Amino acid sequence: MSTEDIPLIMYTFPKHLEDVQKFFTHYLLEEIVLPPTSARTKFPPYEERICRFCKRNSKETSFKTDSHVIPHALGNKYLVADDECDQCNKLFSTYENCLVDYLGIHRTVFSSRGKKNKVPKFKSPDAGLTASNTHFQTIEKAIIIEDNNGSAFNIDDVSGKTTINYKKHSYIPIFVYKALLKVALSLIKETYLPAYTETIKMLITDHSDNFLSSFAKVGAAYTSLHMKTHCLIFRKQSATESFPTHVFQLYYENLVFQLFIPLNKEDCEYYGDRALNIIYCPPIFFQPEAEDEKCSFEILDLSGTQKVKETGTLSMMFDPEATKNLSAMNPFTGEVESNVKFNPKNIAKIMLVPSGASIPIINNSKKS
Ligand SMILES: [Zn+2]
Repeated sequence: MSTEDIPLIMYTFPKHLEDVQKFFTHYLLEEIVLPPTSARTKFPPYEERICRFCKRNSKETSFKTDSHVIPHALGNKYLVADDECDQCNKLFSTYENCLVDYLGIHRTVFSSRGKKNKVPKFKSPDAGLTASNTHFQTIEKAIIIEDNNGSAFNIDDVSGKTTINYKKHSYIPIFVYKALLKVALSLIKETYLPAYTETIKMLITDHSDNFLSSFAKVGAAYTSLHMKTHCLIFRKQSATESFPTHVFQLYYENLVFQLFIPLNKEDCEYYGDRALNIIYCPPIFFQPEAEDEKCSFEILDLSGTQKVKETGTLSMMFDPEATKNLSAMNPFTGEVESNVKFNPKNIAKIMLVPSGASIPIINNSKKS
């Protein structure tokens, strides 16, 4: 029995089931790409290498650096390409840096280990907000977020909604799009590459950015789950339908990005100037998730070709009932005082700890 014969069971959030069913009337799942858990040891001989992007061989370019197919910054340590040359890799790094700046504080909050296997620290350009991982008492993986100007935290003790607003580092939206498109083009089967010659040309140069920006609408689903970094590639079922041939999804922590690979030669030849239909697939999973998991969706406009400075927002909820009967603990001594009035305006630091974590408490409250 080959793996193709094993039925693949897919799950989604209950309220998105119909959208998933609709998507799969037009598309089939062609590839599931999960980065390996150990380093690759076998590579083709150096002299046989050809860059899938610029098409140069090992005499015309070099293949010395590890080219991460999915950015290392998104938690992919070991999925590296043997067909991405150093020059293309350097160019793609500039795109990936924009993706990192676009993600802002999220990589720290998610504790995504990047280069040197460390959780990246975040500091907003005005230093108003910082975030880093810290050890706190017995908890190793705590994240501390500090509001240095007193203006970043917005905590509503009635609803329990907490929003953290901060300045992001500036980034170029079309480069964020190109960073995602690059992953899709790295993962697409080699046999499809000739159909994407124009797309690849636009990826590795900047003179078509204005044209490419007309495709730079990326679906972003935000879930309440934390997912291992992986990618899915879907192919349309019927060549005669006016959908783009390939749709790509990148799953990273609680985020799912989706884009279609533009300018497939067959799509262009078949439809001429007619617009393609774009259909978004909600996040899909290969094991059932708890029913109360949530998912929201928006379409990101990444068409801008100039640097943008924007405000990032991180939202979370706490149980407002929990603030009614509080104790205060001195984090340095562990000493506790009971019956402290909760004033959200006084909060300057928020610590995120893994679910289920607990800290030892010394109860110092005076007994009558
Ligand atoms: Zn190259």
